[in-house]
This record gives sequence, C-alpha cells and structure tokens, in this order.
Amino acid sequence: MSVNQQAHTGPPYGQPQPGYQGYQQPAYGGQPLPGVPQSQYGAYNGPMPGYQQPVPPQGSLRAPPTSGAPPPASGASLPSGHLAYGQFGHGDVQNGIPASAAPMQRPPASQSFLPGSAPTPVSQTATFQQYGPPPASVQQLSNHMAGMTIGSTTASAPSPAGLGYGPPTSVPPVSGSFSATGSGLYTPYTASQGPSPTSVSQGLPLAQPLFPGQLMSTQRLPTQVPGFAPPPSSAGIGPSSYPPSTGAPRPPTMPGPPLPGQTVAGPPTSQPNHVSSPPPPSTMSGPHPGPPMSGLHGPPPPTHPPQPGYQMQQNGSFGQVRGPQPNYGGAYPGTPNYGSQPGPPPPPKRLDPDSIPSPQLNELPPQQKPRHRIDPDAIPSPIQVIEDDRSNRGSEPFVTGVRGQVPPLVTTNFLVKDQGNASPRYIRCTSYNIPCTSDMAKQSQVPLAAVIKPLATLPPEETLPYLVDHGESGPVRCNRCKAYMCPFMQFIEGGRRFQCCFCSCVTEVPPHYFQHLDHTGKRVDFYDRPELSLGSYEFLATVDYCKNNKFPSPPAFIFMIDVSYNAVKSGLVRLICEELKSLLDYLPREGNMEESAIRVGFVTYNKVLHFYNVKSSLAQPQMMVVSDVADMFVPLLDGFLVNVNESRTVIASLLDQIPEMFADTRETETVFAPVIQAGLEALKAAECAGKLFIFHTSLPIAEAPGKLKNRDDKKLINTDKEKTLFQPQTSFYNNLAKDCVAQGCCVDLFLFPNQYLDVATLGVVTYQTGGSIYKYAYFQLETDQDRFLNDLRRDVQKEVGFDAVMRVRTSTGIRATDFFGAFYMSNTTDVEMAGLDCDKTITVEFKHDDKLSEDSGALLQCALLYTSCAGQRRLRIHNLSLNCCIQLADLYRNCETDTLINYLAKYAYRGVLNSPVKTVRDALINQCAQILACYRKNCASPSSAGQLILPECMKLLPVYLNCVLKSDVLQPGPEVTTDDRAYIRQLVTSMDVAETNVFFYPRLLPLTKADVNSDSLPAAIRNSEERLSKGDIYLLENGLNIFVWVGVNVQQGLIQNLFGVSSFSQISSALSTLPVLENPFSKKVRSIVDMLQVQRSRYMKLIIVKQEDKLEMLFKHFLVEDKSLSGGASYVDFLCHMHKEIRQLLS
Ligand SMILES: [Zn+2]
Repeated sequence: MSVNQQAHTGPPYGQPQPGYQGYQQPAYGGQPLPGVPQSQYGAYNGPMPGYQQPVPPQGSLRAPPTSGAPPPASGASLPSGHLAYGQFGHGDVQNGIPASAAPMQRPPASQSFLPGSAPTPVSQTATFQQYGPPPASVQQLSNHMAGMTIGSTTASAPSPAGLGYGPPTSVPPVSGSFSATGSGLYTPYTASQGPSPTSVSQGLPLAQPLFPGQLMSTQRLPTQVPGFAPPPSSAGIGPSSYPPSTGAPRPPTMPGPPLPGQTVAGPPTSQPNHVSSPPPPSTMSGPHPGPPMSGLHGPPPPTHPPQPGYQMQQNGSFGQVRGPQPNYGGAYPGTPNYGSQPGPPPPPKRLDPDSIPSPQLNELPPQQKPRHRIDPDAIPSPIQVIEDDRSNRGSEPFVTGVRGQVPPLVTTNFLVKDQGNASPRYIRCTSYNIPCTSDMAKQSQVPLAAVIKPLATLPPEETLPYLVDHGESGPVRCNRCKAYMCPFMQFIEGGRRFQCCFCSCVTEVPPHYFQHLDHTGKRVDFYDRPELSLGSYEFLATVDYCKNNKFPSPPAFIFMIDVSYNAVKSGLVRLICEELKSLLDYLPREGNMEESAIRVGFVTYNKVLHFYNVKSSLAQPQMMVVSDVADMFVPLLDGFLVNVNESRTVIASLLDQIPEMFADTRETETVFAPVIQAGLEALKAAECAGKLFIFHTSLPIAEAPGKLKNRDDKKLINTDKEKTLFQPQTSFYNNLAKDCVAQGCCVDLFLFPNQYLDVATLGVVTYQTGGSIYKYAYFQLETDQDRFLNDLRRDVQKEVGFDAVMRVRTSTGIRATDFFGAFYMSNTTDVEMAGLDCDKTITVEFKHDDKLSEDSGALLQCALLYTSCAGQRRLRIHNLSLNCCIQLADLYRNCETDTLINYLAKYAYRGVLNSPVKTVRDALINQCAQILACYRKNCASPSSAGQLILPECMKLLPVYLNCVLKSDVLQPGPEVTTDDRAYIRQLVTSMDVAETNVFFYPRLLPLTKADVNSDSLPAAIRNSEERLSKGDIYLLENGLNIFVWVGVNVQQGLIQNLFGVSSFSQISSALSTLPVLENPFSKKVRSIVDMLQVQRSRYMKLIIVKQEDKLEMLFKHFLVEDKSLSGGASYVDFLCHMHKEIRQLLS
C-alpha cells in the first residue's frame, strides 16, 4: 500500500523515466541543510541544459520541446536584465538625508542574556462568557423528527471482500520519505510530503452507486430506528435538543455511568505553561488564573460518557459503510422494536446505497444497545469513508487522461500521472460533472468551484512541470481569448491552424511552431511537447510579460525585527538574530545555482526605525535611524540590500550586535505601518519584488500612520456589530496593501502578542499581498521556540513566486465569477499576488453564462504569471477538463464533499465581514439543505418522507458542515479571542482541501494501538468523547495543534515509556515536546508526531492533555462530533436538524 513502492504502471506518458539523464532537479530551496536528508524534490523547473524528454511510449526519442532555439544554457543563465544588481546601490540617496546616522554602539558588557528571565505573560483575565442559546429555529425538532427514519440500507460500495471490514487496516504509511525530522533540525524544504493531496471524492465505486450492476445487496427496512424518533415522553433529549437549550444536558447516547472525570472539572489552576496557539486560545489555560469557569464546569458537559468496558471500535467496525448484511433482519435479537419487520427482510424494494444504513446493533454488547436514540455508529462516518477510499483508490496511480474523473480523497495517499489534465494537487473541484444549464445548477445549489494551488509541492515520485521555451516569440496563444496552447486545442488544415478549445476562434500556427499531423489528426510532435500532452507545464515568459517591458531583478528578503521591550525581554530578538545567522544560507535557490540570487536587508524598530548598512566593504555594520515615521523613506540605498555571501561577516556582526544594542530598552510602544512602508520603499528603490518578514509583538499605538487603538469588545459577539471585529479598523492598511501589490512586496507576519493586537487590521497587508501570518500568543522561549523556528525556516525556504498574476479562462458557457484567497484584485478577472507560495490556494467560483454541452464538456485553464526566486519570469499553466450533464444524478455522483466544504467555509468566512454571524450560519445550513433536498427530490427513488437519504458523495456533508458551523469563527467558544478568530479566518481563506479537511474534522489516533514495528499509523477514530477509552493515549491533530490525551487509567508502563515518569499524576502538561526515550513506544509516538509535522504547512503546537485536567476542555473543543460548549450541535443532533430542514423544503 505504500505508494512510493508503487511501480509506475506502464511507461509514463510524457514523464521522465526514472533512469533518464540530464534533467537533474536539485532541491529548490537551497542546498540541503546540515544533517538533513536532501530534499527529494526536484528543482522547480530545474536547469534547462540537460533537458531531455523522456522516451515516449512509442520509443522515439523526444526532442527538446523548444522550437528551434535551444534552451538557455541553464536555468541559472538569466536574461540579461537579471544582472541588475548594479542598478542598485548607485549611492544616491534618493529619499533624503538620513535623519540621523550613528555608528553602531557597543552594548554594555554587563547585559547578559537570560533566556529564562522572560517576563511572564501579561496575565489576562479570561472571561468565560456563556453564549446565548443556539438559534431558536430548531426548538420543535422532536416533532418533526417523529416521522424520520434512518433508512436501513447499508449503503456502501461493494467493497472488495474483506477489505475494510476485517481487522483494522492500518493507515498506509505516508510516502516513505517522512523521515522523522527531529525538531530543532533544519527541515529541508520538502513541503508536505506525500499525502497532502486534497480532495473529497468518494471512492469510485462509492461515487457511482447507481450504476447498474453495482449493487449492494442492501435492504431497506422501512423502519424507524428507535431513538431517532424519541418517544414524546423523553422530553428534551435526543434530537430535540438541537439546538441544545442552554443547560439542558443531553443524555448520553449510551446509557451508563459517566466517567468519573467527566463530572469533575475543577477550577483552572494557573499554569506556567499556557496554551497559546489558535484555535485554542491561551486564555483558557494559560498562566492566567481566570475566574472559575462558570458554565464550563459544574454539571458534566452534555457529552456522551463512554461506557465502562466500552470496546473501542477500530477502523472498519463503525457502522456505516458496511458490506452486505445477508442476515440483516435477524441480526437484531435484542431490539424487537427495531423495524416493523422482524424476521427475514423482504426482498429489497430498491437498492439505495445512498440512504443511511442502520446501526449494526448486533456488534455492540447487549447492554449498550441504544434505546430511543440514534446510534452514532449508524450515521455516516468520516473515518469509514476515508478508510474505504484508501482501500479502493490508494493503490493505483491516478491517471489524469480522462475528462471529469473524480480524484481520490485528499486523505488518500496516491500518485498522480499527468496525461493531459492538471493533477488534483493543483486543482480540485466541487464537482467534476457540471450541469449543462444554469437552471439545473441553481436548482441543485451545488456551488461550482475550483480550489487551485498553482505552485503546489509534489511528492518526489511525481514530475514537476516542464519549462517550455519558445524563444523570443513566446508561448503560442489563441488570437481572440489569449488562452495558452494546451492539449485541448484542435489542429486543423494539416496543422496550419488551430481552433481554440475555449472560444472556438481559429488561429494560424506560427511558422516556427508548425508540425504535421498524423492520421488521427494529432501532431507528430505530440509527445515531445508538454503543452500538447500534459495538464500542467510552464512557459518561459518573454519581456512582453514583464513590468515596464523589462526583465525583473532577483527578489529581496527584508527582515524587520521589533526590538521593543517585550520582544527583547522574551528573548525573541536574540533568538531571531541567532537563527538568521544560519538560515540565511538556505534562501531559495533555483536549479543548480550555487547560491541564492535573493538579496537581504535588515531593519529593527520600536517607535522609530533603524536601517542597517551591511555592505561587504564595511568592517562593521552601520545603523541609520529614521525617527520621522510620518513620511517614511529609506535612508540608504547602497549597502542595504546585499548578497549574503559577499556581506557574510558584516551581517554576522550585525546579528550579534542587535540583541545587545537593545538589551536595555525601555521602549514599549511600536509602530507598524511605517515598517511596511520602509520595506516597500526599499524594494521600490531596488526595483525588485520581494518579501518582508516582520516580527511584531504589540498593538501599534505609537504616533504614526496606521496607528491603532484597542477596540476589542467581546460583547459584540452575537450582535449585528460582530462583523466589525473582523474588519480592519482603518482603511489605511488597504491602501498600503495596494501599493505593496503594485511593487510585488509580499508581507509575512510573525506575531508574538501578549494581548490584543488587532490581527484583523495588522493582517490586511499580509492577506492582500499573498503573505503568511503566524501567531504565537504569550510567546515563551522554552515552549514556543521550536515551533516558531520551524515555521520561520519553512517560510524562508519555501518556494514562492513573486509579482504574480493569475487568470482563469473557461470554455464557453461558464466563467469565473468569484475568488477567495489571499490576494488583491484591481479588476474582475485578474488575481494579483505580490507573492504566492507553494501552500496558498485560490478558490474560484464559476457561474453559467450559457448552455454547456455534454459532448464538449467544460474546460478550465489557470495561467499564473510570476517571477521565480532567481528573477526569471514564467507562466505556469494548469488545464482541467470537466464533464457536463443533463441529469442531476450525474452531478451528485461526481461531487467532492471535502472541496465543497473548503468552498463553503471560505464563503462563510468572507460573509462574516458583512453579515451577522448567525445570518451566515443560517445561510450555510439552508444552502446545504437545498443541495440535499434537490437530490432527494430528483435523484433518489421515492421513499417515505421520514427517510433521510443522502447522496453517496455527500454523505459526510452534514457532519463536515456542522464542523464549519461550530468553528471558532462562526461560533466561538468562551476562550476564543477576537484575534484568534481573525487569525483563523485569514488562515482558512488560503487553505487547500487537505488542510480544511483536517482543520474542521481533526484526525484522532489511538497511540496505544500503534504497531511499534511498522511504519503505519494506527487507524483513526471518530472525534467523539465516547470513542475514548481512559486506558489509552490518543493523538489529535488539526493542522495547527497536536494534542496528546492521556486517559486516567493508562498503564503505568506506557506512561513510563512515553513520558519518563512513573505515574499519571507526574506527567507534566507543560511539556511542549515528548521526551526522547529509548524504547519502541516512545520512538513510535515521536515518529508519528514528526511525520505529522512534516505533512503540515505549519509546525503544530504540541499540547499534553491529561484526562480530567483543566486543559481537557480545550481538547474537547476538537471532539467535533460532540455537542460543544459554545452551543454547537452534536453530529447526531445536527443530522436530525438537517433532516428537518430538508423535509421542510420538500413539503
Ligand atoms: Zn480562444
């Protein structure tokens, strides 16, 4: 199952053969760091010289794809304009005389650096508000539910016998290269290894349940599941508790005594180590002894207490997607009321794999059989769907030659072979079959959207896009719509002209590009040209594609460090300076270049800015202070941006001196906008694009442009003014962002707040320039430095395109109408990003403007124009062809729920800027109800209205949607800060499908079930407290945090092995890493943690949670199938609610 062992089946089509020579692709991100295996990533379009196409299947040797003109000597040989270093540093100080210029001051020697002396974070009183009751619209649910039945069909694909239903199959190892990079090491830029594919398709068989012959011997007992329609007497329980009325605890699904721990939730004791990362905000646990958590404690949370002796269910045994149950009817001896047809079931009336199957009650111990309740095992299980897709689709490469093919899920580890359509790693769609008419699309309410990650990192086994050089003439394009040459263009008239697949216009083939056609009408050089045979490739751009018709200079990185009191005292300034000394050697490089072309510059600031001259000829760096921040200028040009190697000693000296220079500072105020302005001005002066790395600690209250005030007000939550918390408090930053985009100045922001600093406003420039934002609340050197340094290393080294513009073209009938992501748009079609890195996605929504045809389908072409890290201007092209349908059923069979959720979350998160949060939530519920009602009405076989029937492809839509609704942005828990919400909102907007998947439905792994002798992960379990056993240890990750939860009854030996202490009570929840112990269990767990860290684009904060400890509240927030403290519905309740909504729409 290990994908990396998967042999390519057949000669790769248009892909390099393993043994072929000459197309070496050195690591993109600079030479490998010491002690770390070399990245297997090929260079991002490596050097051209040896570029030789692989042998095509026919066996004829490929010629270089360039037409005539040989490729440039190498990727390193830049167009003439690239050697523009000289332009910079003419020495003319354009911006006036420095306000002051002082030689560096030697710090007083007495100041010693005491890492441990960081001030304790400002204690904040945590306010634990009890939020109002959930939306009132759901009160009468029990009445509606009375008629609701869960169809007893066991949906499910005809899964290969034995597959998935046997003993828990372990999760396949994520591509073997997840070498556990120990924290603290440089992580080579390997990007998320392997499995960050994204997507949500169901396994093929699952996805197309209605195909004749593909049946499932499922039977549908027209019965009611006891409990789904609770007897009237059981007032206030079960489904009727959605939305949970405040205070009314919902009875457990499984009767039984609650765990001792559940009733206890002592007042939080102050802890030296707080959890400060989002989404679990630090206020919750931190060193802030807050008031008693009224509302959180006291009565046991209405969760499902696990049964004593409850057998943890492993993968494969959760209800839902089960194989045929021949003896279904007779299998419920203990539930005489189950179903109205005791005894052998009648022949199935129909085989509806879409309806929710019945619970497999016979698998539960008798005393646990639910009465009057929906069995959580009976409702669609994310774990089962994920496991099934892995089993069904993880072993074969996904070959992109077929139009409208739904890719494997993002959680499945699979290889992609480009045969004419872009890999799902670059583009995923909500549906791969688009309704032919806008009426159909409106009827279904299924949004048509593509989640595009243009510079996605590929696993080492896959081929990076080839770089095609058409010389001075540039890429061949359609005369009318300007679409780029692609596999769907039709050559006619013996190859002399081609008809555009997007607009049908006929264009002459330029003489240099002419080629004869074979007897099938295909150009004979088809396999030699990536742009004719592959879904993704790049063109070298000509000067016409450059700003001011001038080839760009290599970009610059400017490091801008806050040196105010808090930053210095916490040890942050010293940490950053120490890190930069080595990190600067690993700036992104292109191809086989020996050193990075990126120049660097340094600024420190508090209320004033300090620029540093680090020219190589200087013996010591020089500081220039600009105290007039109202009209920012750069006091020096020559010597500000330098080559790292040339200025190595001066830079090292500077980085040694900065922490000393400010060691005694008493300055607590900072400016912020002038810092960005300074970076922008420096890039303007140097005539290049670049990135600012700003390390910032506080709300900028010092007198300066962009000065902010503290306007945090949690009382606005659940009011019409809540949206203002997400909006910037001044438009100043929007204007600044616009200027930054125009210059290609991308801003990455590292925040270290001890209190509110208005992320919603500070993040504006980052967001609109395509930058990244990182937040380390209550930063403490001891616990947070690993995470910060890992993030910083990855951020500095990651692949990024500068000064980027993306346009999505579509074939006639649909067009791109809306865009979501971190970018700026000055018109309605072009997405502009000062920087676009390998982790950022842009979500594009499409609408009909005409009818589509089933024959021709629909095409997308995403063209990204950008400047590489060496200053080369390029176009990256991704093409994707989709099917079109006149039957709604075809639409519903080819949807991807994960992508749908990605889109819906982004749509909703944007909505909160303008509408009350409740309105946004209601709209989400309504849209999904319409989607499911339309299916029910038009695609499902007739059945009683009480039957909840979900499309196979969307059976997880309710559970995932509920997770979005309960997320911190849309329904914050009491411990979530305003900054956390703004931060999460911004992060999600750029997430790819794999990231939103795990973010909204975290991965929960029973560590004690891990096989220490294998590379595999233990099988994941569902996110519900009732799945936890107090004798086990679990890991939960959501892309931002990793929780390690330890049950109170865990064997002493396991505790000793993992934590190195002898008892549960001795485990410190202050640990931010697991101790390194020489035993198999410790090694296994640490390797799992390391593997997960490598897969994610951010380094996750590790939090140890002891059962019954106060931190457990934080952890429970992520058990998303349970009812949440902030009023979010449990999965079961939400499903009932959705059913009610659907029934209302249908009636
Ligand atoms: Zn065209």
